[in-house]
Amino acid sequence: MKYNIAVLDGDGIGPEICAGAIEVLKAVGKKFSHEFNFSHYLIGGCAIDACGEPLPATTIEGCLESDSVLLGAVGGYKWDSLPGDARPEKGLLGIRKAMGLYSNIRPAKLWPGLAKASPLKHELVKDGIEIIIVRELTGGIYFGERGKGKDADGEFAWDTEKYSVKEIERIARIACELAAKRSKKLVSVDKANVLESSRLWRRTVHEYAASNFPDIEVRDVLVDNMAMQIVKDPAQFDVVVTSNMFGDILSDEAAQVTGSIGMLASSSLGDGTRGLYEPIHGSAPDIAGKDLANPVATILAAAMMLRDSFGLSEEYAAIERAVQKTLDDGWRTADIMEEGIKKAGCSKMSRLVAENI
Ligand code: NAD
Repeated sequence: MKYNIAVLDGDGIGPEICAGAIEVLKAVGKKFSHEFNFSHYLIGGCAIDACGEPLPATTIEGCLESDSVLLGAVGGYKWDSLPGDARPEKGLLGIRKAMGLYSNIRPAKLWPGLAKASPLKHELVKDGIEIIIVRELTGGIYFGERGKGKDADGEFAWDTEKYSVKEIERIARIACELAAKRSKKLVSVDKANVLESSRLWRRTVHEYAASNFPDIEVRDVLVDNMAMQIVKDPAQFDVVVTSNMFGDILSDEAAQVTGSIGMLASSSLGDGTRGLYEPIHGSAPDIAGKDLANPVATILAAAMMLRDSFGLSEEYAAIERAVQKTLDDGWRTADIMEEGIKKAGCSKMSRLVAENI
C-alpha cells in the first residue's frame, strides 16, 4: 500500500525527532512492503520566519491532501516576545481546527525497563503501566460562554461547561473503537454527583456504548477519585474517556507518573481516518541541534498513525517491539539515562530502533 504523510517538522528539536520517526517508518515500509511518501510543510516559528505567519495556507492544503500528518513541535526563545495571536503555538490550534480534529488521545505508557523514572513507588509500577486518555478537544468549558462583570459584591467572572449529546457520542465512538482493539474496558470520568453536564455525559456514554459496542464494559469514575487512583493504582486503567478540562489535567498527571516526557506520544482525530500525530513534549530549545533529544515519543506517534489512521496494527506492534528491544539492549537517550547504561543521541537511538524493526 501507498501512504502520503505530511510532515510538519516545526522548530527546535522538531526536525531531528521527525527525521528519526521517518527513518523508522522507512524501515517498516521495507519490512511490510508499504510505500510511505513524505512531504514537508512549515508550521510555527520557522513558518513565521519564512512567510510571516505560523500556519501558511500551503501547510493547511498539504495536510488536507495527505493521508495523515506527523508533527514535531513548535516554539522557541526567538518568538517568545510575539503577541499571542502571532505566536508559533497559534499554528497548532489552527491546524487542529482546519483538520476538524475533536479528540486527543494520549497514552501514558511506562515501559517496564524505565520503572525507575517514575516518581511512584517501585511496587506500583514495576510491571509497567499504560493509561490511554481520550480527551474531548473542542467543547466544554474551554469553549463555552464566558464573561465578567461587577455587582454589589465586587468583580466576578464566569465560564460555562456545555456538552451536547452529539459531542459526547462522537468522542465516545473514538474511545470505544480504541477499547475494542484493546482490553474492551472503558473508564468514563465525570463529576456526575455535582454537574448537570456530567450527568448527560455519563448517560450518553453508557447508551452509546451499549447500542454500538455491547462487548465493552464501561465503568464510571468521578474526576476527584480518578486523580487519586492515577497515583495510587495506575495499573488498573486502560482506555479512559473524559471531557476537555478533566482530560487536560488528568493527561498531564498520567504523563508525570511515567516520568519521561521524551517517551510519550499523542494523536488528534476527527471524523475521518486522517489524524495529527505528535510527541507530547515541546520544541526543547535548550537541547535543539545538539543530537541529544529522545526521538522515541515521535517514533511512537508515527506508530499510532500506522494503527489508528491506516489500520496497520501489526506494523504498530513491530515499532513497539523495536523500541522495547532497544531499551532491553541497554540503550538510553540523556533524558532517561541511568548509571551503567549505554548512551545514545537522537540519530543513534532512531537508527537502533529502525534496525530492530
Ligand atoms: P519542552 O517540552 O519543550 O521541554 C521541557 C524540558 O524537557 C526541557 O528541559 C527539554 O530539554 C526536555 N525535553 C523535552 N522533550 C525532550 C526530548 N524529546 N528529549 C529529551 N528532552 C526533552 O517544554 P518547554 O520548555 O516548556 O517549551 C519549549 C517550547 O516548546 C516553548 O516555545 C513552548 O511553547 C513549546 N511547546 C510546544 C508544544 C508543541 O509543539 N506541541 C508543546 C509544549 C510546548
